[in-house]
Amino acid sequence: MEKRGHHITRKTFQRLLVGITALACMLLLLGSGTFQSRETHILVLQDELSPGSPISVILVIPTPHPPQYKAGDMLPLQGLLSSSEKRPIQKAPFFYTDQIQLAGQDYILAMAILVVPNTYEEKTVHLDVQFEKTASIASSFFAGLNLPQTHNFPVSPRSFNSETIALGPENTDIKTKPDPQKNKEAAELWKLLTSTDAGLFNTAGFTAPVDSPRRTSYFGDRRVYQYTDGSSERSIHGGIDFGVPRGTPVRASAPGLVRMARFRIVTGNTVIIQHAPGLYSLYYHMDSLSVKEGDLVQTGTELGKSGSTGLSTGPHLHWEFRIQGEFADPDLMIQAAPLDKERIISKITEKLGKTDRSTEGR
Ligand SMILES: [Zn+2]
Repeated sequence: MEKRGHHITRKTFQRLLVGITALACMLLLLGSGTFQSRETHILVLQDELSPGSPISVILVIPTPHPPQYKAGDMLPLQGLLSSSEKRPIQKAPFFYTDQIQLAGQDYILAMAILVVPNTYEEKTVHLDVQFEKTASIASSFFAGLNLPQTHNFPVSPRSFNSETIALGPENTDIKTKPDPQKNKEAAELWKLLTSTDAGLFNTAGFTAPVDSPRRTSYFGDRRVYQYTDGSSERSIHGGIDFGVPRGTPVRASAPGLVRMARFRIVTGNTVIIQHAPGLYSLYYHMDSLSVKEGDLVQTGTELGKSGSTGLSTGPHLHWEFRIQGEFADPDLMIQAAPLDKERIISKITEKLGKTDRSTEGR
């Protein structure tokens, strides 16, 4: 009896010791900050979304030791847009944008740019933020973040104009005649517009490329092309047409890298500028070009003179934006300013509290 009782007491003591040791370890860990919260905050810059709206998804990631990234570097995180029935709409990678301090703690900011397609008719859209499937996160800077996360956003309905355009023999040929060069150019364009190469060139707003109130076509116009043989085809106009005379200077909408500057059969003399990974502005039908591929441009840099080259029924400038390959409304690109650093910082301040400073300046 005595021996057994002694045994139980020792066992209980051992258990107690193990318990105290575990508790002490937990307290130590808590004290040293190992259990510090790594709660990632997800914000969307735009207050309202409608078909054609850009969506700036901002990740605010706490970090005691900020990793060495340059603005525009790609991160192993992605944003996925889907419909109310979880039908996939679009995917965008996150890129590094900045470091900030919030209530004395360091954070890094990452962004992904998406767009509500101009054909979207549902009232809400889902956003999933997750790690890239193939990325190994376990021992990386991103380990322990509270991802994936899903957020829902309302989408306001919007209607678009309809127009019918009768094409003459030359333009009918451009649209309908089989041409391997045209197919090659279409494949090259799509490859560029769906690429998400590193490089953030604009951290402010966008401006119109010509100073003209005269618009001959609008974003999202539902078009019917009538061909000379009596047949017709439906399409959606992805940009804004400015009715400016031939020879009008065409100016860059924002700082960026010229990714294309050449003649194409359908779009004539064409300039495409990268402003952020997966975000491009496009300028079509120009008479002449004054930039070349690889040039860095600023807001207002002359890209060339407007004209009527390619599939065009008269002098005009076609101005367009693409985000992850999808059309974005140029007017909303100006209003919603998806890359504007000042707006991003003030949105974070509004939602999460006071920011002490932006460590990389503005
Ligand atoms: Zn156009």
